[in-house]
Amino acid sequence: MTLGDTNTNGDAAQSADVGDDDNAAAQQSPLRRAQSRLLRTWRGALDVVLPPLCLGCQTRLSDHDALCSECWRAIDFIRPPLCDRLGIPMPYDIGGPMISAAAAAHPPVFDHARAVGRYDGLLRQLIHDFKFRDSHNARRLFGRWLCQADPQMVSEADAIVPVPLARLRLLARRFNQAQMLAAEISHIARKPLLPLALKRTRATPHQIGLSRPQRERNVAGAFAVSPGAVPQIAGKSILLVDDVMTTGATASAAAKALKAAGAGRVDVLVLAMVTDTLA
Ligand SMILES: [Zn+2]
Repeated sequence: MTLGDTNTNGDAAQSADVGDDDNAAAQQSPLRRAQSRLLRTWRGALDVVLPPLCLGCQTRLSDHDALCSECWRAIDFIRPPLCDRLGIPMPYDIGGPMISAAAAAHPPVFDHARAVGRYDGLLRQLIHDFKFRDSHNARRLFGRWLCQADPQMVSEADAIVPVPLARLRLLARRFNQAQMLAAEISHIARKPLLPLALKRTRATPHQIGLSRPQRERNVAGAFAVSPGAVPQIAGKSILLVDDVMTTGATASAAAKALKAAGAGRVDVLVLAMVTDTLA
């Protein structure tokens, strides 16, 4: 499946769903049929009060949690062929796993990383709104995108762990965006969410403007696994979730803590990557 296949805001997709509901309802008890009718009426009433709008430009759509086709084209999705370790695009496909020069020169601590798209344009704006403007409307769409970015990576995970925020930053922002994304993946993929497994051992200055070596020093040793979570980490495949990967320094520091606690595999799934700094 490609990411483009997930754009279900067309009328055809919506009427197909209604048809399925009717077929299913025909085989149900009178009570279930009444419940189905009520649910459809409620959805219809909700759409009048809160009409489905494009998450990018607020154009009216036929479905919630979606983008219009123009905004969809403005997302720079990352597609194969990819570096097997860093998830950055490769220029050609050799028909098997490939390692980029960057991954060969600086092997990451994590096993594999994948991102939905490049951190620019509309995706950057949607993530910025999500983090700093308390606009969480896109979280369901983000969750679907993350699960579709690498379905095998998600299905092979034993548990989902978000990259934690430092305590002061959490107090200021009131929520951890990585945890919200991890919760969406956990809900869709029906995998255990371990929101408190990883903790920050110290506050770290903002990474903005720092070089890769500076970022690595900044976050070195900044994460640890909570002692009570070790049994849920040891020997397990962990899916580490964050919103943006810039140099991979944060993901590597978090993966190091998870591996020190015995994780057998740590894969990283993010919404967006800054592919220029990773390459
Ligand atoms: Zn739009």
